[in-house]
Amino acid sequence: MHRQPVRIAGAQPALFARSLMLRAALAAAAGLGGCGDDDNTLDASAAKVVRQCSSHVFSRQPFGQEVAVNRYDLRFRIPAGAQGFSIVAYTPGASTTLASLVDPAGFPHDLVTDEDLLRYHPAGLATAFGFPVEADQILIPPAPSQAFLLQSGEWELRADTGGRKVCVSIAVTETRGTRLELNVIAVGLEGMDAAALATNPDWNEALEVAAAIWARADVDIALDTIRYTDIDRTVAGRFAIISDWNDFADLVSTSEAPSSAAEDALRVNVFVNRGFAGSVGQYGLLGISMGAPGAIGVHGTEASGLVFGIADYLGVDSIPSPSDGEFTGAELIGFTLAHELGHFLGLLHTTERSGESDGLDDTPGCPGISALGPRGLTTCGDADNLMFPVVLPDSAGEISPMQRESVAPNPLLRPETLTP
Ligand SMILES: [Zn+2]
Repeated sequence: MHRQPVRIAGAQPALFARSLMLRAALAAAAGLGGCGDDDNTLDASAAKVVRQCSSHVFSRQPFGQEVAVNRYDLRFRIPAGAQGFSIVAYTPGASTTLASLVDPAGFPHDLVTDEDLLRYHPAGLATAFGFPVEADQILIPPAPSQAFLLQSGEWELRADTGGRKVCVSIAVTETRGTRLELNVIAVGLEGMDAAALATNPDWNEALEVAAAIWARADVDIALDTIRYTDIDRTVAGRFAIISDWNDFADLVSTSEAPSSAAEDALRVNVFVNRGFAGSVGQYGLLGISMGAPGAIGVHGTEASGLVFGIADYLGVDSIPSPSDGEFTGAELIGFTLAHELGHFLGLLHTTERSGESDGLDDTPGCPGISALGPRGLTTCGDADNLMFPVVLPDSAGEISPMQRESVAPNPLLRPETLTP
């Protein structure tokens, strides 16, 4: 079984990683209880993240494939006036794909073959390349050019799974908001538990850097309401230093929310460990978002968070960059956190390493990026954008109006008052 592409930034050029997966016993902790009745229409609500699981699936054999998959059809209702919604489908230990949607006007959207949607649907992309994934998610609309997708009323969803059961969660944006709430989970930091991290001046300086970048786009990273927790001690030892790509997904799979109420569920999990080593560390990797977008409002899946390794950077005054110049530790951690939050909210790189652009009209691109060495990267027109694939010293961390509009429908951007 395989993992989905993850989004990465660090001092070195970012990359996609798809790696083999070994499902750990941790997956069991994700739990799939509380299943609904397949015949019901799931009513999306701004008050909570609603979920329905298949009580039965039917088997089919996709054209040209030898292995049968199980299919789940679900109807769900988006309330009038909704500004956006997210869909997350998840099966622990088995590949899961959001296969298609039928909008309230009866128009079908194929999420595996539609080229416009594939761009914003990482698992669809992974499926196209033959990499099945456990969690699959999409934000509707995923970009301003796709705004026509947003419709209120009854939708039909089709999800494919290699397992015998699949759950689908939906979060809806009723009122556009600006407030982004974080959970920070301390994972085996040396001499520092979550409470100590919460009051560490260098960590807080890094958070201020991230908050200042997003504040310029009128997004408020709520530093005063971060929930700090320690990960279970036995689990912490396994993930304190990550050297296996599979561990990122297994670590974020340990995330939990105390309830499905919007207040608890609409938060981004930020796992903070010591660092990365081995094949993972050789890229100068600093942080990873486990999806673009991540599993919005859904905890306990392998796409339910970000992971940062900070021990080598926290409190460090000067970190040289391959592109010339230097960062402070707070700048490097803060900028990378802001970048990864951009992915988690649904933003793609302005230019992928392949040279492909994000499709937004107001972000410059750099089609020849793959031929540029580290020092040449500063010549790219998008080098000052937050979502440039490489973190550069002195980057302005710009967020364009269309990037801002792309994340606006995301339920994670909460209004000041949540629907009770
Ligand atoms: Zn990135």
